This record gives sequence, C-alpha cells and structure tokens, in this order.
Amino acid sequence: MEIAKEKLFALADSIRFREKGDKVYLRGIIEFSNHCRRNCLYCGLRRDNKKLSRYRMSPEEIIKRAKEIAALGIKTVVLQSGEDPYYRLKDLVELVSRIKELGVYVTLSIGELSTRAYRELKKAGADRYLLRHETANQKLYAALHPDGSFENRRRCLYVLKDLGYEVGAGNMVGLPGQTDDMLWEDLLFMEKLQPEMVGIGPFIPHPHTPLAKEKGGTLEQTLTMIALTRLTLPKANIPATTALGTIHPEGRELGLKAGANVVMPNMTPQPYRPLYQLYPGKICVNEDPDACLPCLKKRIEGIGRIVV
Ligand code: SAM
Ligand code: SF4
Repeated sequence: MEIAKEKLFALADSIRFREKGDKVYLRGIIEFSNHCRRNCLYCGLRRDNKKLSRYRMSPEEIIKRAKEIAALGIKTVVLQSGEDPYYRLKDLVELVSRIKELGVYVTLSIGELSTRAYRELKKAGADRYLLRHETANQKLYAALHPDGSFENRRRCLYVLKDLGYEVGAGNMVGLPGQTDDMLWEDLLFMEKLQPEMVGIGPFIPHPHTPLAKEKGGTLEQTLTMIALTRLTLPKANIPATTALGTIHPEGRELGLKAGANVVMPNMTPQPYRPLYQLYPGKICVNEDPDACLPCLKKRIEGIGRIVV
C-alpha cells in the first residue's frame, strides 16, 4: 500500500498534538569542546580531521553561558562535545552540580562513557543523556565506526536507562549504504528501547571526512522518519534538528509539522560557534547567539505553535 507522504505527516502531526499539544520546548545547547578521540567516518570533529581548529571552553566559560541561558528563561541546558578525555570525571561532576544550582534541567551529550562515569554524573544531578544510536544495523554501524561497536553503544543506552536518565536515542537518515530496511531496524530498535527523546537528522557529507563524496540524506526521507518515529513512540520528545534546518531553509518548521515538538537553539558563544563543524553549512554559526532566540520564536509562532 502506497501512502502519500502528506497523509503520513498529517497523521504524525495529529498524534503530536494529542500527546504534546502545540507547545514547542526549547533546549539551549552549549557545544563546549570540538576535540574528539574518535574517528566516526561521517563527522567533521573526527580525530583525523587535521583541518579543523580545535577549542575547549573552560568550566567558568561554560557556567557563565549556562547562567545566560537560564536568565533567558530556557529550562534545559544541553552540554555537548566530542569525546574529549581532557575533561576528567571530577571536572564534569562539578560542572553538572554547579549548573544544577541554576534550577535548570541538565542534559549531557558527551558520548560513550563507563557505567561508573554515567552513575557519578547522574548523582551530580544530570537529568537526561543524548546518545544517538546512529544506525541500528550492525554492519552499517561497524562500517562507519572504526573505533566503536554497536554493542557498546547499545550497552550505554541501556545503562543510562537503568540509572534513571531520560534517554535520547536516534539515527541519521541517508547514510551511505543505508536502505529502507535498515531504517525499519532503527524504528524496531527504538520501539524496544523506549527512549524519552529521539534525535533524527539527515546525514550531511563533510568535505574533510572519508564520506566527502557521498550523497546526503534528503528532506523527504528525514521528515518521513520523524513521522514514523512519532507513530512508533507517541510520547517521545522529538527535536526538529539543526541538520534539518541546514538542508532546507524551512526544515525545522517542516519537522515540527511532521511530528517534532522540540527545538534546540544553538547557544554556543562566539568565537567557538563556527568551529563545531559536524557538517558544512550549519545554520546560524555566524550570528550573535542571542539573536537566534527571537528568530526561532518568530519561526515557531509563524506556524501557529507556542514557544515554552
Ligand atoms: N560525540 C557525541 C556522540 O557522538 O554521541 C556527541 C556529539 S556528536 C557530534 C552529535 C551527533 O552529531 C551525532 O550523534 C551524529 O548523529 C551527528 N553528526 C555527526 N556528523 C554528522 C554529519 N556529517 N551529518 C549529520 N549529523 C552528524
Ligand atoms: Fe566524535 Fe561524536 Fe563526531 Fe563521533 S560523532 S567523531 S564521537 S563528535
């Protein structure tokens, strides 16, 4: 049975409305380090990309930015980075507990860590953890991650769940070699895991990676996957991702109309913003971060939704 994409998006949108209403939740993201010890084939931060200028924000800089985010009324601070062992567990624990004092939710997205590290960070007050599973197909996962395994990624996600984190999984769409069957595997994997959040974005080829010459994911494929995810996990928080906004000028609005209910404004301060280059053409990197918020609000309200 062929179903028109518009009908699928409308169905996902009505489930989103039933479960989440018209509110769009904002999560302010600070990309605090672009150093990474790993070599994921698709990512501009991979350790073998020698063309990237690397940066690390100091704990004081991160806390200052978190305070500014809280003062803007955003209730969730997301700390994201490459896998950067420079920040020791005790530094991260202190960072999380100091940010918690601001009365916000703390979301971490700093990659695969030991069970002990996840436990200590939870004790320090971290509420949520974003760790996309990237692809649930073991062969494709292995081909894209020379220094990682799907088993460990999955182990991390289940450990995080057991420790009481709200967990964010998710996959890229349009990866080289990815078939529709593999995208079904993603849905089945997430149906089993029951993550509270799901980040879905198109793969965008980065010129300084081994996948430079590959094709990227399309808008339609990504919207379809967002809609199918809303059908599979009606209660999940699903962001309309920056990557989606990068491949189409109205990508985020279209994502919000196909089942998504969250937007993650990039709150990384200058001069670091343009250096967190996962993929080329990332939107809003040259803007003053504080200008992003009014612009995003206007876009969200423009499609009749309410910014929280
Ligand atoms: N290092 C942590 C990790 O890998 O979980 C967190 C940061 S990582 C840069 C965040 C996400 O960026 C990854 O989960 C991946 O899905 C996405 N990403 C990386 N390279 C990308 C690309 N070329 N196109 C689209 N998304 C990409
Ligand atoms: Fe590092 Fe994450 Fe990029 Fe992989 S996706 S290279 S772990 S920053």
